[in-house]
Amino acid sequence: METKVITIDHNAMDLEVLQEAGKIIQNGGLVAFPTETVYGLGGDALNQESSKKIYAAKGRPSDNPLIVHICKMEDLAPIVQEIPEAVFRLAEAFWPGPLTIILKKSDMVPKETTGGLDTVAVRMPSHPVAQKFIEYAGGYVAAPSANVSGRPSPTKAKYVIEDMSGRIDMILDGDGIDIGLESTIVDMTGETPMILRPGYITKDMLEKVLGEVSMDKTILDINCKEPPKAPGMRYRHYAPKGQLTIVEGEEKTTIEKINELTKEAKSRGEKVGIIATEETKDKYLGDLIKSVGKRSDEDSIARTLYTILREFDDEEVSVIYSESFTECAMGQAIMNRLLKAAGHQIIYV
Ligand code: AMP
Ligand code: MG
Repeated sequence: METKVITIDHNAMDLEVLQEAGKIIQNGGLVAFPTETVYGLGGDALNQESSKKIYAAKGRPSDNPLIVHICKMEDLAPIVQEIPEAVFRLAEAFWPGPLTIILKKSDMVPKETTGGLDTVAVRMPSHPVAQKFIEYAGGYVAAPSANVSGRPSPTKAKYVIEDMSGRIDMILDGDGIDIGLESTIVDMTGETPMILRPGYITKDMLEKVLGEVSMDKTILDINCKEPPKAPGMRYRHYAPKGQLTIVEGEEKTTIEKINELTKEAKSRGEKVGIIATEETKDKYLGDLIKSVGKRSDEDSIARTLYTILREFDDEEVSVIYSESFTECAMGQAIMNRLLKAAGHQIIYV
């Protein structure tokens, strides 16, 4: 299959292009599109054949449900059984934006889209290209991240092209991927709302709107034996090709440890990459040191993390050492992705 790649300026959108992309979805095809979190791989959420195609293009296990993207609030009611009052408050506060809400699904949504579950994950993205595209696609676009299953989610079109070329009909290349980590997922089907995947919208932000919110305990507890509640969180994920290890401790001892590990790895003939920060990047000894952002600006860290993992792949790095990010407000989201990328390898110093 030939994949059409079209650049689209989100400040001056070519509506004809978006209409063409929407038509592809309505005809059962697949289109990758930019959102404010990461690139999505879209198909018609109400067409079971489209969902099957998404799983095939990603090489994703079919029990890992997709997120249904909508562009207006009126479109929520038809795909769910009921909308609890708290969900209206959530939508008012955070939609359009990087929050995915789990609700009980209606019969309109095929089980192929929800990985066999009776619940459906719904999000309304704020990216202008995503919004118009969803509208032209008929209102319901099922979209996981547009990467081959297991690889870091794409925050740049070139990585979508790398993973999806020849597998899907069209790639919309647009910038404006400001957040760089996937949406927060909150399950609203139980008594207490529960975060299944941390993201830009933090527990504190949700609690201001909802009152008490719990967190799936498997998210950060690396010793927890229970399976995570979001099926997708069970798989190794976000993984670079090199072997990633996180080092956690005081700044000074972390740097010393990473320098020591780097020396050892280099003497074994490994190509070593280091994930540092603006504050520490000059204190390392390796030759491939990348700053993921400023600790004083944690949004910058979220935005850059996946790009760095992909760049280390491009540079064929075999071993990666990273600092830890537990102390930031968005640290839970960042550490959750890093821990998965590292297959939970962490050294405490
Ligand atoms: P991705 O779109 O690649 O970020 O993956 C979607 C994520 O949403 C995966 O982790 C899924 O397991 C999760 N998800 C989607 N639908 C549901 C659902 N109904 N219940 C729980 N988690 C879900
Ligand atoms: Mg994904």
